[in-house]
Amino acid sequence: MSRKGILAVVSGFSGAGKGTLMKALLSEHADQYALSISATTRGPREGEVDGREYFFKTKEQFEQMIEDGELIEHACYVGNYYGTPKSYVMEQLEAGKNVILEIEIQGALNVKKKFPDTLLLFVTPPSAQELEHRLRGRGTETDEVIRSRLKRAVEEAEFMDHYDYILVNDDLETCVQEMHELIQAQRHKTSQN
Ligand code: 5GP
Repeated sequence: MSRKGILAVVSGFSGAGKGTLMKALLSEHADQYALSISATTRGPREGEVDGREYFFKTKEQFEQMIEDGELIEHACYVGNYYGTPKSYVMEQLEAGKNVILEIEIQGALNVKKKFPDTLLLFVTPPSAQELEHRLRGRGTETDEVIRSRLKRAVEEAEFMDHYDYILVNDDLETCVQEMHELIQAQRHKTSQN
């Protein structure tokens, strides 16, 4: 197997449970994975810490990062910028870690263009009702934001066939295991090219 890690993108509707999945994957296989921390112009939700969930930036700071070439990709999502800082990702890949990018579809497609070996995974909740239930259950967003996010989910559904695999998150452990196996297989495949 190659010494260098691979990039895996995990996308999914806002509320699909990606955050919980990522936490489980990383805690079960801490030696193999690194999670990229994105920069964003959205404000922190309750409990979010700068440098842990995101690097929280002003619009001006974010635009400076774009201009300085510090981001691998960036996209606009429901009125805010989100982007992947380059240096951490490159360091971790070199160190042999598989790097997970939890990013939306536009960013995923841009990463795939730059790094064709990237594995694209899409996570969905078991049903649309469950999606709305999870979004509302989070209790951190206004009705207007929830509506925008549900609308965006419908738009994103059209792009799901650009992904290598779609994972249904109805059981956390099964989903984590599937994700891990797919990433291992992709790493193996990449090392043989
Ligand atoms: P949230 O505001 O719920 O944390 O994230 C909103 C969306 O932005 C999610 O779909 C999330 O995956 C995506 N996202 C987070 N970081 C990045 C990033 O660095 N680049 C892109 N393109 N999307 C991101």
